[in-house]
Amino acid sequence: MISFYNTLSGEVEEFKPRLAGQASLYTCGPTVYDYPHIGNYRAYIFEDLLKRFLLFSDFKVTHVMNITDVDDKTIRGANSLGMPLYEYTKKYTEAFFEDIKTLRILPADYYPRATEHIDDMVRMIKGLLDKGYAYIKDGSVYFSLAKFPDYGKLSKINKDELKAGARVETDEYEKESVYDFVLWKKAKPGEPVWETEFGPGRPGWHIECSAMSTRYLGPNFDIHCGGIDNIFPHHENEIAQSEAFYGQKFVNYWLHCHHLVVDGEKMSKSKGNFYTLRDLLARNIDPVDLRFFLLSTHYRKMLNFTFDNLEQAKASRQRIIDFLYELEHQSLAEASQPESEPLAAAALTNFKESLADDLNISAALAALFELIRGTNSRLAKSQLSRQAANQVLAAIYQMDQVLAVLPEKKEEELTAEIMKKIEQREQARLEKNFALADSIRQELLQQGIMLEDTKEGVRWKKIK
Ligand SMILES: [Zn+2]
Repeated sequence: MISFYNTLSGEVEEFKPRLAGQASLYTCGPTVYDYPHIGNYRAYIFEDLLKRFLLFSDFKVTHVMNITDVDDKTIRGANSLGMPLYEYTKKYTEAFFEDIKTLRILPADYYPRATEHIDDMVRMIKGLLDKGYAYIKDGSVYFSLAKFPDYGKLSKINKDELKAGARVETDEYEKESVYDFVLWKKAKPGEPVWETEFGPGRPGWHIECSAMSTRYLGPNFDIHCGGIDNIFPHHENEIAQSEAFYGQKFVNYWLHCHHLVVDGEKMSKSKGNFYTLRDLLARNIDPVDLRFFLLSTHYRKMLNFTFDNLEQAKASRQRIIDFLYELEHQSLAEASQPESEPLAAAALTNFKESLADDLNISAALAALFELIRGTNSRLAKSQLSRQAANQVLAAIYQMDQVLAVLPEKKEEELTAEIMKKIEQREQARLEKNFALADSIRQELLQQGIMLEDTKEGVRWKKIK
């Protein structure tokens, strides 16, 4: 049985997917106005752990992550540089994709861009107007909280603070502003504009996620994730828009991850404790150590980032790597007859059951380190056969399908792309185009492939 803490019910619940063996998952993606900071990546890595665990548990997962490429922040950013919005957001969208690859976050099945789904948003807003959940005021469209009595069920917001008729226009706001929120913002100078039957303008942030999640996953789906910051107003508003429009329950399980703080304080650029992934890479931090650090605290606990804590995570990860190396290279006797490895089997079961319990990562990692300790103690007493050692290795590599923190197995073969480059260089040499040949050689060198021209032909080796 798998269970998760559902923010909606406020309880740990058994996960019952809509369709047996399948999980539909929507995770709020980046607003591409800047490089994401490590707090954002904490949320994305928690979501990756969740997804990898579902895959590990034999679920077929359909994962959608939106790219918010039009909202208050992106427009402000583009305008401050006098750049077209598209060009501005393109840079940060590309950076985001690079970062998640570096952090070994599995890609989503769909990355819908808000600007490519305006029609879906317009259709929803039109529907909300028709059904009386929304109204037009001064050229903008607002959602009327008074028409949706369930408002507040996710964030448990105090409804006495609901100020009917008062409106809020910004995409982000605090709990003091429980007002009618904006679905469609009327056209303003310097802002991108789409023509609609309710007037020219552009979408508010909240409607984007309602439109894109249901577009790909249907009006009701299994899991929606984000950071606790998203609960109010973003996710509360998503529920209001989607449930009012479709007339049915929107999401069955809401999972939220807690904040990351730095040296015990909220990250902020002015305090100088604000880090992007790139900042850490520039300090020679191994991104996989960062991944291990970010995933090794339970997602519903606050996580304190310090360089000491990161160092500890690095050391723990190194212990696993060293252990694997030792075990792989030990000369051990073959067992006289096949035996099953009780430590490995127990550890694997423990690991799975811990993660099935609301992603209890501490207990899961404890099972892994317990296996290392147990195996080492048998090694010390010469009580481990090669077969048993291999079962331990297999168990740890299986765990790593979820953790993704071990060194990648060395590829013995070059990619087709690199093979093609080598052929092109050979061709260039035959044609005595040495400039081209040399530039390809340099290019490959930068990718860590060194070429050697020998009598037998060209040879390559990896130098990284
Ligand atoms: Zn969202």
